[in-house]
Amino acid sequence: MAYQVLARKYRPQRFSDVVGQDHVTRTLLNALAQNRIAHGYIFSGHRGIGKTTIARILASALNCRTTIGSEARPTPEPCGICDSCKEIREGNAVDVIEIDAATNRGIDEIRELRDAARYRPARDKFKIYILDEAHQITDAAFNALLKTLEEPPDHIVFMMATTQPEDIPQTIRSRCQHFSFHAVKFEDILTQLRKIAGDEGVTAGEDSLSLLAEAGDGSMRDALSIMDQAIASAPLEKGRAVLDAAQIRELMGTVPNAVFEEVLEAVAQNNSAAVITTANRLLDAGNSPAQIARQFVRYLRNCLIAKIGNISAEGESPNAELLQVSTDERKRSARSAMLFSEEELTRFLNTMLRTFDDLGFRQEQRFHLELGLLKLVHLQRLLPVEELLSQLPIRSAESRGSAPSTTAPSRSSSSTSAVSTPPAPRTASPFEADRSRKTVMADTSQPEMVTGALALATEKDEKLAEGPRLVKPIAEPAIEPIATPIASAPVTGIPTAEALQQLVVDALSSAKGQQSSADAISDAAFTIEGGTLRIQTTVSKTMLTVVLNSDADKILRNTLRANGAGELKLQVEPGAASTSAPKPKKAPTGSVQGKALEHPMVQQAQKLFNAEVRNVVDLREKE
Ligand SMILES: [Zn+2]
Repeated sequence: MAYQVLARKYRPQRFSDVVGQDHVTRTLLNALAQNRIAHGYIFSGHRGIGKTTIARILASALNCRTTIGSEARPTPEPCGICDSCKEIREGNAVDVIEIDAATNRGIDEIRELRDAARYRPARDKFKIYILDEAHQITDAAFNALLKTLEEPPDHIVFMMATTQPEDIPQTIRSRCQHFSFHAVKFEDILTQLRKIAGDEGVTAGEDSLSLLAEAGDGSMRDALSIMDQAIASAPLEKGRAVLDAAQIRELMGTVPNAVFEEVLEAVAQNNSAAVITTANRLLDAGNSPAQIARQFVRYLRNCLIAKIGNISAEGESPNAELLQVSTDERKRSARSAMLFSEEELTRFLNTMLRTFDDLGFRQEQRFHLELGLLKLVHLQRLLPVEELLSQLPIRSAESRGSAPSTTAPSRSSSSTSAVSTPPAPRTASPFEADRSRKTVMADTSQPEMVTGALALATEKDEKLAEGPRLVKPIAEPAIEPIATPIASAPVTGIPTAEALQQLVVDALSSAKGQQSSADAISDAAFTIEGGTLRIQTTVSKTMLTVVLNSDADKILRNTLRANGAGELKLQVEPGAASTSAPKPKKAPTGSVQGKALEHPMVQQAQKLFNAEVRNVVDLREKE
């Protein structure tokens, strides 16, 4: 007899032999027992999990010539010995027509089918059409089929197998019974492989069978195909093929997951050198970058699931089922997962997925893989920009007006109070922010320290501040055209504007490298009006940030504070000619650019990075 591949040789002939689809087989057996047969069935699910197999078994059961309940057929399962059962098994039954819809998808083929369906079955009870890959059928062809399904002749049963049930028109779906197939569980595939290895006289260890079952990834047929290949290439020992895990890995071009565990350990230790050495070892051994990336993505996904499912290093958890891999692999993923936070693992997975995508169309695959792996080492220190923005003080127009004169004390360890020490320098470094974020997060025992203006602002603009824990005051930028409270100091009588001006000029002149700012202040006009100190400079708006840099601003504010003018609002204005606060160039309102520029996030980002919005691209789909 000609060689038959395992997937066909061990194709189930009875419902009870089908692995992992109990919810389908149970329902179908009940329906058969009660003789409640629908005229249309849709079997949907991943490839290689038994859709067509179940359709064939159902066809046999429907057309089996032995009556249910008789000695040869005590249950609704097909008897397997009558002519009908035999013919269906061999694929030459006249009344069971299997159509590959991928190639016969047009209106003509379906019309032909529809016309043929009008005639009674040649011999058996039902005329059964099994449409494989049914989602491939064109809409027009489905419409041609619709009438038959609406008023089906008694002898017709349609069975549609598909991987994409959503592509089948609703009008068809609503006239069929829809069975959604499950991915076959790892344990189920493993048990089946073990049984088949025994039947085939193959020596196979648990590790190699686990490897095959994992490679199947929920598909029994895939697992069996790889097993076929593995048996064919296995060495013989006393006439028995011997399966070996290393040999199977070589066959599939995969590397052991132990390597990825090593890589993640190196990432946890910030050891770029070890990461690159491991990658080089794998690449030099002939593994393709894309294959390594794909496997690493899977491994990271398993680690993330282990983390989320709280799977212990012993591989145990009520959620252990989430990971359809062998116990050893589950333990390994859990070990790796313990090195990182869920957030970090998510970022790693995201990065490796992108790397894997990139590899598809890059020339220098090796470099991209190395870059992707190195990114993981650095990722731990990177912060998303949203997080950075959320750490900025919230300064919407309303909160400015209503802000009390006391500034909330800074929660970072470097400055305990905005009054007694100069505010911490503004930094855009993610590393710095990460460190201070960790300090802030460790300090959650004192939530009441976030007070006044900030707490108020949080309520007003929840979008920007995710919660009080991330809110901390950062120094005001050097030049702020609109009034801001300076600091709190007891009121001891405010000197005159001229006196203040002289004090500031003196302070700046004595400071190192502040001569130009001293000159600018000396040329400016100081006026005090209703609690606001207005400094009208002669410097243009662009030059103002350069001349009155943050150091000059610090000296200015400190001088005012030291001289009892601390509670005055400070308003520094550019160019003598301009009388009102300068407005940024306005884009037409309603335009995308205008909307983008008005968005508080964009405004915060502009301030943070001292940036300018040059161009706004509208990526929404045009109608
Ligand atoms: Zn039969």
